[in-house]
Amino acid sequence: MSFFINQELCVECGGCFSNCPNGAVLKNRGAYSVSAMCSDCGTCIHCCPVGAIKQGKTKTDFDNQKIDQALKNKLSLKRGIVAMKFSDKAPEGIPFEEGPHFWCAICGDIFEGKGTPVYFTGRASACGGSIMAGIGTPQSDSEEFKAAMDAFVVGEGKLFISNEFISKGREFFPLFPKQFIGALLGPLEQVKMPDIIYFPVTPHQMAMISTAYALETGNIISGFTGAPMCIQTIPVPFVENKPVFNTGDWGGRTRSGLKEDEMLVSIPYKLVPGILSNLDRTSYANE
Ligand code: SF4
Ligand code: SF4
Repeated sequence: MSFFINQELCVECGGCFSNCPNGAVLKNRGAYSVSAMCSDCGTCIHCCPVGAIKQGKTKTDFDNQKIDQALKNKLSLKRGIVAMKFSDKAPEGIPFEEGPHFWCAICGDIFEGKGTPVYFTGRASACGGSIMAGIGTPQSDSEEFKAAMDAFVVGEGKLFISNEFISKGREFFPLFPKQFIGALLGPLEQVKMPDIIYFPVTPHQMAMISTAYALETGNIISGFTGAPMCIQTIPVPFVENKPVFNTGDWGGRTRSGLKEDEMLVSIPYKLVPGILSNLDRTSYANE
């Protein structure tokens, strides 16, 4: 974070406070200041009528390898971190995932430390959930899709008794501004400037993250359960720029290899440096 507010110039209009996409501007007894959650986007400069917001010399460090290592060290993570970056064409040198494959299974390999970066498209997806992940639907005919639903999803002893309940939970999640052709999925140490990252955490690690997120702002992290893991993990951080946690669903937990005491946390990448720096400043840092 390098942005700061010159208190002598600030006329307390609240423009920066209302428009910061990270919720990084603090208001304390009428005075505005910039917190560690600032990612140097520069939006606030254009909102300030009196030129009170300045950019200092230091810049937020988004180095993916340093962030990967710092998260693993500070949270004592034992598993890999997935980085996801949307794009309409495969980044140079990144192979297409040919499929059919599952988003959650690709993530599971990365959590296990085995995955390498791939460009994953809706066409290569084995699951219709890819539309909830923002990359469109698989190229399967309706008979094939119905057979898969009957085998694993709908019916007694499965996930829903009736087809009509499958999409009921979608109303809780934001819609993507567009469906992308695909997304780069890979271990964070090999993906620069992803859109979001996600990884398995225990409740204790989740509490450490949420405390660091709330430290200066009081913002809370909400979570979901009961819907497919992709719809819980991807749209909220990508579209709303907020972290989210979830327990995953049966298929997602199974294919991604989540352990019994693990859930998933998903964080917009631009918020990660602030959370990392605040991890050193909470009660958990003194344990
Ligand atoms: S994140 Fe952007 S809008 Fe928010 S304080 Fe930092 S530079 Fe300003
Ligand atoms: S936009 Fe400028 S004047 Fe308004 S509260 Fe922020 S720093 Fe102060």
